[in-house]
Amino acid sequence: MKEIGVLGWILIGFVVGILVGAIVGKPAAELRPLGTVFINLLRMLIIPLIFSTLAVGVSAFTGKKLGKMFGKTYFFYYFTGVLAMIIALIIVGLSGAGVGFPTGELKKVEIKAPPKLVDVGLAIIPTNPIESLAKGDVLPIIFFAIVLGMAMAAAGKPAEPLKNFLQGLAETMYKLVGYVLWYGPIGVFALMAWTVGTHGLSVLKPYAYLIFLVYLATAIQVFIVYAGLLRIFKIRPYHYLNKIKEAPIFAFSTCSSSATLPVTMRVTRAAGVGDGTTSFVLPMGATVNMDGTGMYQAICAVFLANAFGISLSLHHYFLIGVTALLASIGTAGVPGAGLIMLSMVLGAIGVPIEGIALVAGIDRILDMPRTAVNVTDDAVAAALVGKTEGEKLPDDLLIR
Ligand code: ASP
Repeated sequence: MKEIGVLGWILIGFVVGILVGAIVGKPAAELRPLGTVFINLLRMLIIPLIFSTLAVGVSAFTGKKLGKMFGKTYFFYYFTGVLAMIIALIIVGLSGAGVGFPTGELKKVEIKAPPKLVDVGLAIIPTNPIESLAKGDVLPIIFFAIVLGMAMAAAGKPAEPLKNFLQGLAETMYKLVGYVLWYGPIGVFALMAWTVGTHGLSVLKPYAYLIFLVYLATAIQVFIVYAGLLRIFKIRPYHYLNKIKEAPIFAFSTCSSSATLPVTMRVTRAAGVGDGTTSFVLPMGATVNMDGTGMYQAICAVFLANAFGISLSLHHYFLIGVTALLASIGTAGVPGAGLIMLSMVLGAIGVPIEGIALVAGIDRILDMPRTAVNVTDDAVAAALVGKTEGEKLPDDLLIR
């Protein structure tokens, strides 16, 4: 295992998984539990990792620095979000995708009502932090960790034992992420074999154009928008993307930004972004910053509107962009969550919600690239926030 390295084995697992899924077909689905083991191992780490690293990270910030970090982080999240919407809407608008697509007899679909954004906002303050930790509610935990970190800094010496304890927990959790990564190749292999095995070519064929558009738009977002931003801020784009590539690979195979979070934090930190920035920008990003999901929702909304013969004006496009951006903020970082929130976008432009059934069958295939973009987005935001905050990134990352 030593010479090839974990990353090499992960890539091998990825490719072999696709081949096995394609050759074996449906029976490859039996491999899924091996993938679930991997996802569960990653999920096991999320809560203690976020809580400890964020509280310790924030305790090193002054109030002014915290405010600046907050402003910059959200600026980067939504600046790239708006660009993502513009790119997705131009691509799908020009494509004419969905026109003449058979809508057939629509089956009633069971769609859970998307949560109201106001409720999502209010739920950020935990009424019982222990309960939030136990239930794994990420946003309330983030809120509590931030205020705890601020209070630890203000309390000074008496709070030191607590800080040391959390610091110890944080380092231990990072170590554990490393151990879990050794299982990564098997997990990635099983997830890819299952995905490819259960999606036959005949299922995908009618959707080839839609799939192509989602992959094209998300690739543009990564290789032009994120790479361009990194370059503007004098960070070598492909070097950085290369250093963090485990995160998008895991995101692609697990379809979960939350489950991938421990890996995203590890690789971003290893690439040279500071601990405080990593722990501040990434957990929040994994919950509210999802450019890939927004792009997918915008593209599907136009595709379905075209399929239903609803003609869209410029005003509709604007509405789709705004609602898809909002819907992506409310989307949880778990597989398929973006599909549920798509109903919010469809509702805004009067497309029958049942239209979701038309794209549900291939959701996993569209979930893979959007989740990969969601985590890349966070890792790029972390580098940009860190750099603009005067953090010293390793020399090999910098454009002189
Ligand atoms: N699977 C995505 C994620 O975890 C969310 C989505 O369904 O769009 O980031």
